[in-house]
Amino acid sequence: MTTAYLSHPDCRRHDMGAGHPECPQRLDAIEDWLIASGIGQTLDRHDAAAVDPAHLLLAHSQGYLSQITELLQACAAGGEPRAVDPDTVANAHTWAAALRAAGAAVQATDLVLDGQAENAFCAVRPPGHHATRDQSMGFCFFNNVAVAARYALDVRGLKRVAIVDFDVHHGNGTEDIIAGDERVLMVSIFQHPLYPYSGAVPKGENMLNVPLPAYTKGGEVREMIEAMWMPALERFRPEMIFVSAGFDAHREDDLAQLGFTEADYEWITLRIMDVARRHAKGRIVSCLEGGYHLGALARSVGVHLRALAGV
Ligand SMILES: [Zn+2]
Repeated sequence: MTTAYLSHPDCRRHDMGAGHPECPQRLDAIEDWLIASGIGQTLDRHDAAAVDPAHLLLAHSQGYLSQITELLQACAAGGEPRAVDPDTVANAHTWAAALRAAGAAVQATDLVLDGQAENAFCAVRPPGHHATRDQSMGFCFFNNVAVAARYALDVRGLKRVAIVDFDVHHGNGTEDIIAGDERVLMVSIFQHPLYPYSGAVPKGENMLNVPLPAYTKGGEVREMIEAMWMPALERFRPEMIFVSAGFDAHREDDLAQLGFTEADYEWITLRIMDVARRHAKGRIVSCLEGGYHLGALARSVGVHLRALAGV
């Protein structure tokens, strides 16, 4: 069995302007590290397909989809870049990139459910976990993980899936979409208070939010994950696990103040795999979210992939 790796050149062309931390070079840094470390040779590479717009409606409203489609298509047709919030800008390539990013998550779900890969990682941008049912925000347009999780349930017929979000920011968009959907258990850690300043009070009983104060070290986070996430995941017995894999809790990342290292990302990946092996036939689809220090991002994705691929 292999680990599928999905990406697409379109995801590199989405650009929010000079100096923006969510930059195309993030994908270059990951690619360079895959080559330098040799991990790339062990992965089964796929070009990400564009998502079927009907599948976006599994997580987003028709009103939002119509409005954002019009805006992104206007940019793609040669219009000026357009800001959708103070941090989030669409350029001529954002439409294609956003379709590939969500499409990768859906395609990865099919690859894993069809037994063509044991697990999968989507090296895509724009990221997704801040995109709510009705709104793009925080560098995100479509909620890639929420779309794929709903696809696994509504189209592929699974009964229970888990979403694990270890990005340093609260996945408010994913929470907005899946809160109250008892077929999904979402477990997350995030620095609090920090953008988007939500998550301290969960929106639904299917959310297990673990807010962390700034400067929490990796060892303390591991203890909390062991004590809080693991019993909940064991009880829930997910048939598949989706991961919002943000690497901005790394100690070298300037967007937050947590103290994760590569060893912590390896540990967390192995713990997720352990649950997946017991309950979900090993099925994991992991999607890139944040991670803005290029070196730390590349090394952390490297250990995440090394663990997923068992090499
Ligand atoms: Zn983040």
